[in-house]
Amino acid sequence: MTDTKEGLFVVFTGAPGCGKGTQARILRENTHICHLSTGEMLREFAKKDTPLGRELKVRLDRGEFASDEMIIEMVKSRISEPDCACGFILDGFPRTLPQAEVLADLLAEQGIKLDAVLEIQVPDEIIMERILGRYACMQCGAGYHDKFQKPKIYGVCDVCGGTEFARRKDDNRTTVENRLVNYRLLTYPTIPFFESRGLLKTVDGTGTIDAVSRKIEDVLGLRAAAE
Ligand code: AMP
Repeated sequence: MTDTKEGLFVVFTGAPGCGKGTQARILRENTHICHLSTGEMLREFAKKDTPLGRELKVRLDRGEFASDEMIIEMVKSRISEPDCACGFILDGFPRTLPQAEVLADLLAEQGIKLDAVLEIQVPDEIIMERILGRYACMQCGAGYHDKFQKPKIYGVCDVCGGTEFARRKDDNRTTVENRLVNYRLLTYPTIPFFESRGLLKTVDGTGTIDAVSRKIEDVLGLRAAAE
């Protein structure tokens, strides 16, 4: 039997654009646990000129989900790697009820007990404005926004000095509308599922990035532990 691992094991969930990725990166910097973004893993796959890569690219560009089978295999293999032994933030997984149902088994195989599922709540009107304005440095991935987070020097990344930026292909109005429909239909049912298991914690994601990350650390009991 595998011993239960010590660490922080959390899921970040919420509608597209709620800030899961940004907040997961901040928590990773503050706690040094792994940030596992299934969206980023899929975007890497979709760059490959293979049948799977090409199929994924079409799906992602339309805002459609990848298959549960593929995602579950991907997560299963990733969480068994040694760097995940002390903790991780699952960002974007589970996104369907079948994925949520399988999560407990995947974790049990690794001797991991989930600490919390954190839902970041943001209204749809704010989501659209956030997603349509966001872009990232192509060199280091640092995130920016046309209105809320401009680089200090125009056209230059604050973090690495890079000068090339890109928007995600699925960050356009039509695809975002599709992603919001998929969120409501397929992902939202996972919220009561985790609530009934006593794992759900919610955070209002409408404040500044710093304010939301403080709320997340409070809800996860990390600020009290640090003080
Ligand atoms: P994200 O970066 O989390 O916004 O994910 C980008 C896209 O990747 C989503 O719109 C989905 O098409 C796909 N995706 C990410 N995670 C999953 C998942 N767990 N299951 C199915 N599709 C996913």
